[in-house]
Amino acid sequence: MRHPTHSAAHAQRAAGPLGELWRVTHAAFAEVGALAFPVPCVGCGEPPATLCATCRLELQPLVRLRALDAGLRVWSGLPFSGVPARAIRALKSEVRTPLARALAPALGAALDAAWDAAVARGAPGPLLVPIPTSAASWRRRGVRVVELVMRHAHAPDARVLRHARRVADQRTLSRAQRGRNVAESMRCAQLSGASVLLVDDVVTSGATLGEASRAVAAAGGRVLGAVTVASTPLDFDRSQVHA
Ligand SMILES: [Zn+2]
Repeated sequence: MRHPTHSAAHAQRAAGPLGELWRVTHAAFAEVGALAFPVPCVGCGEPPATLCATCRLELQPLVRLRALDAGLRVWSGLPFSGVPARAIRALKSEVRTPLARALAPALGAALDAAWDAAVARGAPGPLLVPIPTSAASWRRRGVRVVELVMRHAHAPDARVLRHARRVADQRTLSRAQRGRNVAESMRCAQLSGASVLLVDDVVTSGATLGEASRAVAAAGGRVLGAVTVASTPLDFDRSQVHA
């Protein structure tokens, strides 16, 4: 890994009241439970592994670069289809946290490619800024999925973005609605010219990354691009560009 390694300080998560204890316990049991009790493979449905050896091969990184409509460059480690899509959905909707480790190499490879591009553009050491988890998702899952995969990829997260208001679930919306849904929805801590790579789990329409990019720029940051675990295959074919 060429991107900076994760430090103990980043492993610290804010402690809170009893709700926090429940979330931590819930997440820990979800991980232990998956190891202790055989569950079907998330890729093919065959027991007894969370991810069988055959499906694990489908998660080998295949880094692609695409440009969103607004010009933001996005490096992704996997296509969002087949086994990778099922693994990401299971991680997010069923909180099957062992899958975060299985998906980490894809994110790490995409981070490395983006990091190299940043260095080539004379911007070494960009902050790796995760897209914030909504309050509703945090209550439901008890984990921040993007940061969890980053941690397994040994990538330190600079959590400077936050939601300034509630947004609807993007999955239920059209492309145009997604843009309106997230417009002006994020705020960023002051960055004073710092270079930034945004990090998310999946890029589809790019509306969320676009809003994050706006918020970072408004806070004085310089967005070099974005990195995701996976990207929708349609856009892979249509707008793949070369570094
Ligand atoms: Zn399988």
